[in-house]
Amino acid sequence: MNEETTKAQVTVLGLGAMGTALAAALLAAGHPVTVWNRSDRPTPQGATRASTVSEAIEASPVVLACLLDHRSVYDTLGPSAASLRGKALINLTSGTPAHARSLAAWAAEREIDYLDGGIMAVPPMIGRPGAFVLYSGSQPVFDTYRPVLDALADSRFLGTDAGMASLQDIALLSAMYGQFMGILHAFALVGSAGVTATEFAPMLRGWLTAMGGFVEGAAEQIDKRDYSIGVVSNLAMQAAGYPHLLEAAIDEGVSPALIAPLRPLFDQRLAGGHGAEAITGVIELLWERK
Ligand code: NDP
Repeated sequence: MNEETTKAQVTVLGLGAMGTALAAALLAAGHPVTVWNRSDRPTPQGATRASTVSEAIEASPVVLACLLDHRSVYDTLGPSAASLRGKALINLTSGTPAHARSLAAWAAEREIDYLDGGIMAVPPMIGRPGAFVLYSGSQPVFDTYRPVLDALADSRFLGTDAGMASLQDIALLSAMYGQFMGILHAFALVGSAGVTATEFAPMLRGWLTAMGGFVEGAAEQIDKRDYSIGVVSNLAMQAAGYPHLLEAAIDEGVSPALIAPLRPLFDQRLAGGHGAEAITGVIELLWERK
């Protein structure tokens, strides 16, 4: 690895909260940085401000885009696509796997080397331990600009399908929101009887940590598509108890909206004769909807 790639000149398109954090981390790691933003936002100290997208792109061999959404990436890059030819484009804008694959195809047609990224961190975490970014698409871009990427966060390459980083980013966010839903419902339920969230929080945190072990056991059952492996609490027992969660919420004047969707899935598996298995088999119903 030579000095040219370890301290490569980098262009950052987008100076929102995240783009600004990315530019600051690159500057702190010693990379010369050129920035562009659609409107007048503060330039990170030490960065060079470009007045047009083309001027920003021309300044560096590698361009990081961190804009609001998929549409804003096309709006920004479309008119300047010619200046990206032969360069590396790393898109850290959130989107769907289909968005990433369509941008990869758009880039390939224009001889732009495309790497898609999903940032698993909030802006204050960038450049600090704990942040990670998922990447997929061009392996040469990932390998060549690894020092640039590592200045931002822990970098994880998930393969050459440009949509893979987004898919796994969204899977992690889906799990997070599922957890948030349970947490909010639990706080609402105890709050209905005057227990403060602060009072309940330590017990809730301990319970969630203990239940985290579900992930590995479920993974083995799912990969083998065998939901009878190591069953501790079978579906029939859980399906009998789950209505209590809904009844208790209604009795206490709390909306069951966040926890209600699981019940029909339990019932459907039970009706299918899977009562002795683990609840993990519910995944079969999710796949059926494809
Ligand atoms: P902000 O809302 O702070 O900034 C949005 C940026 O997009 C601004 O630079 C804005 O420019 C620009 N923009 C919006 N529309 C257009 C357009 N049509 N053409 C050109 N530029 C446009 O968002 P963040 O910086 O926080 O987020 C950026 C990306 O990073 C998003 O995709 C987000 O999902 C992702 N991300 C953010 C995280 C976070 O916690 N903030 C966490 C993980 C991912 P202008 O200043 O002119 O409005």
